[in-house]
Amino acid sequence: MSELPQSLPKSVSARDDDLPERVVAAMRRHGSPGYPRAFEVWYAHLSGEMPAISMAMTSLLAGSEGRIGVGDIDMLYERFIGTERLAKQAERTSLQVLGEIDALMALIDQALNSSQRYHGQLCAMSDDVPPAADRQKLREWVEAIVLSTREEVTRKTQLESQLRDSSNEIRNLREALETTRAEALTDPLTGLANRRHFEEMLQKSIDQATLRREPFALVMADIDFFKNFNDAHGHLTGDQVLRLVARTMKDKFKDKAIITRFGGEEFAVILPESDIVAGKFGAETVRQALLTRELIKRSTNENLGRITISLGVAGYRRGDTASSLVERADQALMQAKRDGRNRTVTEDALDSAAARVA
Ligand code: GH3
Ligand code: MG
Ligand code: MG
Repeated sequence: MSELPQSLPKSVSARDDDLPERVVAAMRRHGSPGYPRAFEVWYAHLSGEMPAISMAMTSLLAGSEGRIGVGDIDMLYERFIGTERLAKQAERTSLQVLGEIDALMALIDQALNSSQRYHGQLCAMSDDVPPAADRQKLREWVEAIVLSTREEVTRKTQLESQLRDSSNEIRNLREALETTRAEALTDPLTGLANRRHFEEMLQKSIDQATLRREPFALVMADIDFFKNFNDAHGHLTGDQVLRLVARTMKDKFKDKAIITRFGGEEFAVILPESDIVAGKFGAETVRQALLTRELIKRSTNENLGRITISLGVAGYRRGDTASSLVERADQALMQAKRDGRNRTVTEDALDSAAARVA
């Protein structure tokens, strides 16, 4: 098949010149979204430079009758390209930190040697004080002490400035590492915490709740009929909607809320110190705020109407694991979808629905 990745390395591949054209052709053929990240994913696949992405792409294509959607592209990008870039960045910075630490250790050795040498010189000279009557010898002796002290002061001044440079450099590198870590935990589209961060924070919240016997709630939210919206208005406009939902959540949930993009068009919010009643209240505030926002397409002034979201709320119970809690919030969200969307369902309503059926 012409679109299988080239097995030859990039530099010797005879067909590399037409790789961009092949990428575009494959994207068309598979109905892929056409934005830059999608191009990067297809390029990485067809160049054969990342066998892992090629394998994942091949199995996705096999399971979806050759169609690739926005969710697939985002997943491939996040899992293979974004992670790889951040890992390389972190590795580069860590190597620089190690290099700086080596240089710092060498400077400290140098400082110790120079102090020892100076100390040795002073000791030798104190054993060899000329008689007071020998003025000439006494002057030479004093001059020698002044000279070696001056040399020591010069060396120390140089070392001090090198140490200062080195510690500044280490501070910069530490900041770079912190930025890389923050990037690795952030969703680039919405600026919210990403799934990885959500998982870390959820586990932390469970540990804390267990220890302090404090409640907390989990809200899962999903945009209604978002596929239709994308199909009608294009996925770039869809991206703006994701940003709008993220902004509304930041505006409406309390400061302590941990608002995350769970994936695709789903959001997960951890609400510390909240039970399901408080969770439902927060969820409803966001849902209603979105109802008041008419979407106007900036480029054409076209009114795109409103979008709605469905939400599910679960409260932490003793003995919960991250997945049992997510599972209950997700069940409540599914119930909200089944009940007609654009609503919030709490897990207790779920229990009573099940009881009615039984
Ligand atoms: P439902 O009300 O049942 O949730 O319907 P839905 O259409 O929202 O659900 P479905 O899971 O069928 O489709 C989700 C859609 O979300 C598919 C994909 O086009 C869109 N989507 C996921 N991630 C992104 C993204 O990053 N940007 C854009 N624009 N769309 C996305
Ligand atoms: Mg969904
Ligand atoms: Mg949806």
